Amino acid sequence: MSCDFIGQALPAIQSLQPYQPGKPIEELVREQGLDETSIVKLASNENPLGPSPVVTAAVNNAMASVSRYPDANGFALKQALAERLNVPMEQITLGNGSNDLLVLLAECYLNTGCSAVYSEYAFFVYSLAVRATGAEGIVVSAINWGHDLEAMANAVREDTRMVFLANPNNPTGTHFNETELRWFLDKVPSHVLVILDEAYVEYSADADSNNSIALIDQYSNLVVTRTFSKAYGLAGCRVGYAISNPQVADILNRLRQPFNVNSLGQAAALAALADDEYLARSRVLNREGLVQLTTGFNALGLKWIPSAGNFICVDMGCDALPVYEELLAQGVIVRPVGNYGMPQHLRISVGLPEENQRCLDALEAVL
Ligand SMILES: *Cc1c(COP(=O)(O)O)cnc(C)c1O
Repeated sequence: MSCDFIGQALPAIQSLQPYQPGKPIEELVREQGLDETSIVKLASNENPLGPSPVVTAAVNNAMASVSRYPDANGFALKQALAERLNVPMEQITLGNGSNDLLVLLAECYLNTGCSAVYSEYAFFVYSLAVRATGAEGIVVSAINWGHDLEAMANAVREDTRMVFLANPNNPTGTHFNETELRWFLDKVPSHVLVILDEAYVEYSADADSNNSIALIDQYSNLVVTRTFSKAYGLAGCRVGYAISNPQVADILNRLRQPFNVNSLGQAAALAALADDEYLARSRVLNREGLVQLTTGFNALGLKWIPSAGNFICVDMGCDALPVYEELLAQGVIVRPVGNYGMPQHLRISVGLPEENQRCLDALEAVL
């Protein structure tokens, strides 16, 4: 008789549904027998520019030491981040992507009998991270697809240890401003950690003036997470970071894997951080791509949700899954978001101008 290794797993884990990533190009090649170079992937909010040449050179150079363990403390990268963000190094925690830090925060501060608050349509990983610990996830209804900060503050209970805010949010692209954030931080009890996920902050028009990190001095419960995966173009390298109160960083450092950020990732991120030109180019390309896509959607009579990220949700006005499948057959990979409770929308990442056009042409052909 075989054993029941599902039933034997922790109940909290049994209840989880795995994260659904965007379909990899190689998988579509296998499934549809399409030519790899003809495929357009606009499904994972990756930077369409590809890696900056500065990063490629740094990674090639770091290859020479790949037989050694990485710097467990990520000294060079933390030092560069500290300088750039104007925070002491002891407030920085590096992660294997910012996803690693979201999970680590939940593991360090949540347990059965606790709860954490996040919004309807918020990034899927919050619910995974929270529920894996046995804690309860309190999902607050969205308002106009975005976070209802007032309702979220009111949802905080006696047993709530943590709130997740995504700004901008993925998949909806909605965002709130610093005044709203301050209002929220004033409203939430100071012992409740507020995890502000800024995976797309570099894309926002007011990225430089809107400095949430500066608020940590005033609100010691604020934790800001950022990533090199999106605007910096390093999704495959897996590097993210959290800026927090030094005590929170101390706690995260106790549980994190000693070598959670690999040496190639550290070298890549360090190089990327210094490459202001690449970041500026990414921003311009994204702004123009959003205009191109939304103009195209309007011409097709499709409604869309205004986005502050490098992606946009567009309403098909019908079940979006068959549209997704037909786009796949044409070699265009986008992201269905039915698992977020948005069965009529597709999330489309901003690509290069010709990729955006391929997507719009394919949509027109399908509809
Ligand atoms: C992509 C994304 C992340 C994390 O990505 P990493 O590659 O793990 O850094 C975090 N939050 C949101 C909202 C995202 O979209």
